[in-house]
Amino acid sequence: MNAKHGKVYLIGAGPGDVELLTLKAVRALGEAQVVLMDELVNPEVLQFARPDARIIPVGKRGGCRSTPQALIERWMVRYARRGWVVARLKGGDPFVFGRGGEELQALARAGVEAQVINGVTAGIAAAAALGIPVTHRGFTHGVTLITGHTRDGVEPDWAALACTGTTLVIYMGMARLGPITEALVRGGLAPDTPAAAIQSATLPNERSVVSTLARIAADVRAAGLASPAIVVVGPVAALARLPAHVIPLQQVA
Ligand code: SAH
Repeated sequence: MNAKHGKVYLIGAGPGDVELLTLKAVRALGEAQVVLMDELVNPEVLQFARPDARIIPVGKRGGCRSTPQALIERWMVRYARRGWVVARLKGGDPFVFGRGGEELQALARAGVEAQVINGVTAGIAAAAALGIPVTHRGFTHGVTLITGHTRDGVEPDWAALACTGTTLVIYMGMARLGPITEALVRGGLAPDTPAAAIQSATLPNERSVVSTLARIAADVRAAGLASPAIVVVGPVAALARLPAHVIPLQQVA
């Protein structure tokens, strides 16, 4: 066994549109003999893989059947120790809610060389798809990227987040959008704070709803929006321009 020549690229594949891949991602993908691919990665990116590459889908969407994290880590180590170049493809950026940190630690423990290749994270891309600049200085001093998915029942301190004055960009928040928005209002955010939800951002099936904090959960439900989606809360969401796929509020009222 020789770990010296093997290598793992932890690659961010961006939000969906293949043109949002970085040049570095395309080059690394083209080197790889094996590709471990998350479910949210657009399969079209495989046009940049070697024709003889072994492609292993390792889906793990919340609640669905998935490859255990430990197994994915074992595979990466095993292939790298064979001397192979491994492309670990993740949606968005590998270090934004992507478990890239855990995987990098596992590779380091195993003594496997690894390189992180950033991707365009879905939260920023989804907002931009509606023309929402998440840190427009006329509206806010910053942006908070936060998960709406609870782990072991522990959830973010929404009341504290309501007071930050930053744009809130919520990942994995669709299943609990009602309780989340209620907690933000209880925490002091005005019910009429602009809010937007964007599903499958940058992909042909992108859909979105522009609303207010108090109404967005109901509007999202009425419009049938679902995961994967990003929710943007804050005054900047009022800058959303309405492309054809946006469901106007009066239709979902
Ligand atoms: N590492 C990823 C995030 C992984 S967590 C990144 O940086 O983007 C998975 C969550 O990302 C989804 O539940 C959803 O909230 C969001 N997401 C990923 N792709 C998306 C897309 N094309 N449109 C909207 N949300 C997306």
